[in-house]
Amino acid sequence: MQKRAFVTGVTGQDGAYLCKLLLDKGYKVYGAYRRTASSDFWRLAELGIDGDVERVPFDLLEDSNVIRSLEKIKPDEIYNLAAQSFVAVSFEMPIYTAQADALGPLRILEAIRNIGSNARFYQASTSEMFGKVRETPQSESTPFHPRSPYGVAKLYSHWITVNYRESHGIHASSGILFNHESPLRGTEFVTRKITATLAMIRYGKRSVLELGNMDALRDWGFAGDYVDGIYRMVQLPVADDFVLATGVNHSVREFVDVAARVAGFDLAWEGSGEELHAIDRSSGKTVVTVNPEFYRPAEVETLMGDCTKAREVLGWTARTPLKELVEMMVESDLRKASNGALLL
Ligand code: NDP
Ligand code: GDP
Repeated sequence: MQKRAFVTGVTGQDGAYLCKLLLDKGYKVYGAYRRTASSDFWRLAELGIDGDVERVPFDLLEDSNVIRSLEKIKPDEIYNLAAQSFVAVSFEMPIYTAQADALGPLRILEAIRNIGSNARFYQASTSEMFGKVRETPQSESTPFHPRSPYGVAKLYSHWITVNYRESHGIHASSGILFNHESPLRGTEFVTRKITATLAMIRYGKRSVLELGNMDALRDWGFAGDYVDGIYRMVQLPVADDFVLATGVNHSVREFVDVAARVAGFDLAWEGSGEELHAIDRSSGKTVVTVNPEFYRPAEVETLMGDCTKAREVLGWTARTPLKELVEMMVESDLRKASNGALLL
């Protein structure tokens, strides 16, 4: 019988890649989306699967809607990817972030428990839970110290997932995923902000790329690789928690350097601190500057994951090196900028 998957956050980056993977595996895919006046399915359209995903109006904040969705669809697998996912916004909207990111997953788990559903559950946890890191690299046994309302809310949902597995026998897994990016990443996140803005500068539609802390180190992988790890977790006979990461990290500034080269700039860095900036040697123009507006009240300075457990148990590794990822993103944004399809 055809398996049924219920994917929340279907309008987001991971939702799109995961739906594609599940459709390729023959699943009937129900895509839970938040109905707004401007609900946008461009990511599903870019992957050519918009018509193949059955849309279900869904909000993490609405208890009765969560229960009715599960009663009606009777999914075999539930992938909870929906969240207020942007760290910077969580400092401005901490209560909403907790409602969506902490209590949202609890609403789904309670619905599974009360309906008596046998659905397997996946929770999208994050390396932001490690925050002020206690050891490097970070693995499943590294203590947590989140540094943002987002990280704190996600830590609640991580533990409530573990708790419902242990208390109620639900097949519930928590994937602790390090940053993963793609041409479908939101432009508020630093990688896509860099690739999209550089593409706009190349086509004369922007003059400068303003960034915050360029010393921050992140372990960046490709989202397409990571949804395969998510799927593998849910297929295990016994649910568990896994770190997915590349095991290599780079600074934001290094990311800018690689992306700028691919976009055809030849950067020379000058100054330091808030005066740090990069000039394009060929045009003589300043293309990168610091804007302290993008600093965070508390920063996660460094993240680097150890995915040994995922490799040994799931047979999973991140396959896409940073350079290949950056090329994919810059080339996509150059194409979009050239035909006016890129809005920032
Ligand atoms: P995105 O920001 O691209 O997508 C988030 C999705 O959640 C969107 O579809 C959004 O809908 C939806 N959403 C937000 N609030 C609600 C709500 N109240 N009710 C229903 N849906 C809602 O995130 P990603 O795809 O990058 O990430 C997927 C998940 O993985 C998130 O939970 C994120 O926190 C987590 N994660 C991501 C990492 C990454 O590097 N990408 C790393 C670690 C964890 P809308 O379009 O309406 O806003
Ligand atoms: P995060 O790891 O989930 O917070 O992902 P982001 O892509 O939003 O940020 C990654 C790192 O880039 C953080 O340490 C940010 O402080 C840093 N950063 C520096 N400048 C910027 C910027 O202009 N926008 C964003 N989003 N992050 C920036």
